[in-house]
Amino acid sequence: MAKVTAAVAKRHAELVAQINAADRDYYVADAPRMPDAAYDALRRDLEQLEVEHPELQTPDSPTQRVGPRESGGQLGEVRHERPMLSLSNAFSPEEVAAFVASATKGLGGREPELVAELKIDGLAISLRYERGLLTRAATRGDGSTGEDVTANVRTISVIPQQLSEPIDAEVRGEVYMPKEAFAALNVAREEEGLQLYANPRNSAAGSLRQKDSRITAERKLAFFAYQLFSDPQPASQSAALQRLHGLGLPTERSARAGLNAAGAVAFLAEWEEKRHALSYETDGAVLKVDRVEDQELLGFISRSPKWAVAYKFPPEQVTTTLLNISVEVGRTGYLTPVAEMEPVLLAGSTIRRATLHNIDEIRRKDVRVGDVVILQKAGDVIPEVVRSLPEKRRAVLDEFQMPTRCPSCNGEVVRDEVRHRCPNPWCEAQVFEGLRHAVGRGALDIEGLGEKLLQQLVDRGRVRRLADLFTLTADDLDGLDRMGSVAANAKKGSANRIDNVLRELQRRKEQELWRVLVALGIRHVGETTARDLALELSRRVAPGGDWSRRVAAALRELTVEELTSVSGVGAVVGESIVSYFADSGTGSALNDLIEVGVTLNPSAVVVASGGGGPLSGEVVVVTGTLVVSGLSRREAQDRIRVAGGVVADAITSKTTLLVAGEKAGSKRADAERLGVRIVDEAGFLALLGASAAGG
Ligand code: NAD
Repeated sequence: MAKVTAAVAKRHAELVAQINAADRDYYVADAPRMPDAAYDALRRDLEQLEVEHPELQTPDSPTQRVGPRESGGQLGEVRHERPMLSLSNAFSPEEVAAFVASATKGLGGREPELVAELKIDGLAISLRYERGLLTRAATRGDGSTGEDVTANVRTISVIPQQLSEPIDAEVRGEVYMPKEAFAALNVAREEEGLQLYANPRNSAAGSLRQKDSRITAERKLAFFAYQLFSDPQPASQSAALQRLHGLGLPTERSARAGLNAAGAVAFLAEWEEKRHALSYETDGAVLKVDRVEDQELLGFISRSPKWAVAYKFPPEQVTTTLLNISVEVGRTGYLTPVAEMEPVLLAGSTIRRATLHNIDEIRRKDVRVGDVVILQKAGDVIPEVVRSLPEKRRAVLDEFQMPTRCPSCNGEVVRDEVRHRCPNPWCEAQVFEGLRHAVGRGALDIEGLGEKLLQQLVDRGRVRRLADLFTLTADDLDGLDRMGSVAANAKKGSANRIDNVLRELQRRKEQELWRVLVALGIRHVGETTARDLALELSRRVAPGGDWSRRVAAALRELTVEELTSVSGVGAVVGESIVSYFADSGTGSALNDLIEVGVTLNPSAVVVASGGGGPLSGEVVVVTGTLVVSGLSRREAQDRIRVAGGVVADAITSKTTLLVAGEKAGSKRADAERLGVRIVDEAGFLALLGASAAGG
């Protein structure tokens, strides 16, 4: 054994401190301080040092531990029945071969069959099902104690509240954020001046570890199951994956069984490129010894099983030239510098542009126009300029300066901490971005109002406020790019673009209240909050004539205290709503819409007259398809809530009523078993009674 010199001990202490600090940022704050490859290198150095000097290895060394030393402490704690471990890593085909060789040796010379699964880049959770019902969900935490995220996990729609069989089981898998949702979340965060998530894994973890489930619900998380503990226990990992699928849990479909070492390496090579086409992020593949008997023979080392290894795909980076830095103005007025680059192929797509976030980031990375820069994709999705290569500069390059005047309206720019902002609410770029948000599918859902058309309308000064859209005439659209002219259309006599746009605008004057609330662009008010708020207002404001005006007035009068009493609305959201309506620039937008003829509807649900409502005191589950009324599951649930009922997802002893539409499955059998009252769709509509007629 080599002697531990002072220098070695110092190096060991440094590595431990660096890894502990990185773990805290990564697992507790969900904001990594360094790239994964750099972190993995630190860990390798530490492992190597401890192999050479085993006496340095204390029980709390990062090599002996899973996850961070401490949790964030916001959520309750859950002790795991069986520890949740990490995986040892392999970074090359040689290391994969070494893993197989070591497993073969452990099995007395017999090479085991392997299953290869893509390694989904999210966070591990454990789900407990009792008699088929989801009762608890926990994060991995330090491996023996995790955080209780049951309420948040219940908002993830792909995780069944109930399995297809009433069994007791522990299911483990990965909660992740699909690439598209991750990209959209970061765009929205950048617009709001919030810190961006580094990759989908961090955004999934940050979204799941929220105190407020409503925020989790907004985040579009998904899940893949990959481990099952049940009685009887499936005899192999491949059988467990099939069983999980059969129980109604989502499983990743690329997994492949029956592989030897060569087959496993071929799987890795195949997916290294193919993975870019998936809608979720994978950072590698997990190779597992298939037979449970073999797994038991192989056992564990301190923080990982000996029967599995995580292979990490090499990070993809390319270099290119920075041609220009342009500055864009977002919906909320923040100015974002954007790198315009020589086009380059990276991880499956051609990259020309990447956000540089703010001036501090530009300085930190020292990027200047004309530089050769290193480019990578954050979480395989968002192109990111890592830094410049100053050694490649052939001339002196100027440092970039943020403009002092807004590139859109030429108004003076102000600086809020790190971001620059244009404070002019009539700035064309802000107006345009606000309109684009408002007409989108998740808001007013107006078809045919593409970016080109909106831009032209804003440029001509015809549309400055959201309400202006609804006063457009054929003359306003006449001759605009791609619209055709009124005269030519009249000759043709058939339906044309101008008529279509005007008709669509007319049709969309009638709107559900929640959609209008989203369209207003109030900070922190996304779809879920808007729906909750709309429902609360539907309860407060009696139905009948001039509902739009009365509901708008009621909304303006709500205080922060009243708003926070609405389920799911916290103080930050409440204050944001109040200040939106108090602001002289934004505050009149809702009334302006009503003035031009937009009418608000109470969420396609009907307000139960008076307090109680026909379903008050009932705990209701909806299953199957409602074919007669055509109500979606969500709409039916909204109606139940408005009628005073409580909506539940799974049948339990507390359930008092099951609404069984067509093709009702196992929930019907459960309700029968527990003696829960069952009604069909006609019965449900009858129960809603007279209130079902409105809308
Ligand atoms: P790991 O990510 O290497 O592997 C274990 C995890 O893989 C499991 O817990 C599970 O969540 C996941 N997984 C995904 N698909 C799976 C499947 N099909 N089967 C089994 N497991 C699957 O180990 P780790 O301990 O979670 O974390 C280490 C990782 O986190 C490394 O990638 C490291 O680079 C990164 N990290 C980075 C920093 C940083 O500062 N950048 C800090 C800490 C950790």
